Amino acid sequence: MARIGFIGLGNMGAPMARNLAKAGHEVHGFDLSEAAMAAAEAGGVRRAASGAEAARGAEFILTMLPAGRHVRDAWLGAGELAAASGDAIRIDCSTIDVATAREVAQGARMLDAPVSGGTMGAENATLTFMVGGAEADFAAARPILEAMGKTVVHCGGPGAGQAAKLCNNMLLAISMIGTCEAFALAEKLGLSHEALFEVSSKSSGQCWSLTTYCPVPGPVPGSPANRGYKPGFATALMLKDLGLSQEAARSSGAETPLGAAALSLYERFAGEGGAERDFSGIIEMLRGRS
Ligand code: NAD
Repeated sequence: MARIGFIGLGNMGAPMARNLAKAGHEVHGFDLSEAAMAAAEAGGVRRAASGAEAARGAEFILTMLPAGRHVRDAWLGAGELAAASGDAIRIDCSTIDVATAREVAQGARMLDAPVSGGTMGAENATLTFMVGGAEADFAAARPILEAMGKTVVHCGGPGAGQAAKLCNNMLLAISMIGTCEAFALAEKLGLSHEALFEVSSKSSGQCWSLTTYCPVPGPVPGSPANRGYKPGFATALMLKDLGLSQEAARSSGAETPLGAAALSLYERFAGEGGAERDFSGIIEMLRGRS
C-alpha cells in the first residue's frame, strides 16, 4: 500500500481520495476549504496543514484543482509543493489546457490524468482516466488510478491525456447538439421520440448521446431528460471543456468549425439560464423554449 498526498478535495477530489483510503492506501489530504477537508476526512483521509505537508514523504501526489492556473500555482508557485514532493510521481487529474499540462510536467515524473464520469463516477470508483506521460510512470501509477476508476488508458506523452479529454468532449458536445436537433425536427414533423430512437439507435445515426444519454424522456430511463435535466454533466462544465478545445484548436492550427459552433450554442444556453442544467437540456433552447 502506498503513501499518497491528495490536494484539492472538492466535488471530485474528496470521493476520489476516499476511494484511495478505502483501498488501504495512507492518504494525506489538503484543501483550502474546511468543508472539503471534512468531507474527505469522514472517509478516512488524514488531514494535512498544507499541500507541502500532504506531499512530504508521499510516493504519489495527486492534484484535483479547478483550472490550469491553480495547477500551475500549485506546482510552480511559492507553496513549496514541488520541493516537498522529491522524486514522487505527480498525477494531475484536473481538466486543464494541454500547454499548462506540458509546462508543469517538465523535469518531473508527472502524469496528466484527467477523468470522465463525473461525481457519480468519482463516488463509485468507475471513472475513466486518460493519461499522458512516460510509460514507466504510467505503469507505476496504474494501480493507484485503478482504485478510483474502471478504465485507465495511456494516451501518449505529456499532455496527451488532456488532449484526449478535450477532443472527446468536443465530439460529445457536437453529437449531443446533433441528437437534440434531430429530435426537435422529428417533433415538428410529427414523428414520435420512440420511432426516431428505434430507428437511429440501430442505424447510422447511432451515438452515445442518443443511446446512453438520450436528451428526451422515455427511451433511456436513466438519462437526465427524465428528471428535468438535473445534472449529470452541467452545461457550465461542458462550456469550460469547449473553451479549452477551441483554445487548443487555435494554438495548434486545427479547423474545428463545429466545435466553435457548439461553444457558441452552449454559451447562449448558459446565458439563457442553462449553466447549472444538464448539457442535454440544450434541446429546450433548440426547440425555441429554453
Ligand atoms: P471543485 O471546485 O468542487 O473542487 C476544487 C477544489 O480545489 C476546491 O475544494 C478548492 O477549495 C480546491 N483548491 C483550489 N485551489 C487550491 C489549492 N491551492 N490548494 C488546495 N486546494 C485548492 O471542482 P471539481 O468539480 O472537484 O472539479 C475538479 C476538476 O475536475 C476540474 O478541473 C474539473 O473540470 C474536473 N472535472 C470535474 C467533473 C465534475 O463532474 N465535477 C468531471 C470531470 C472533470
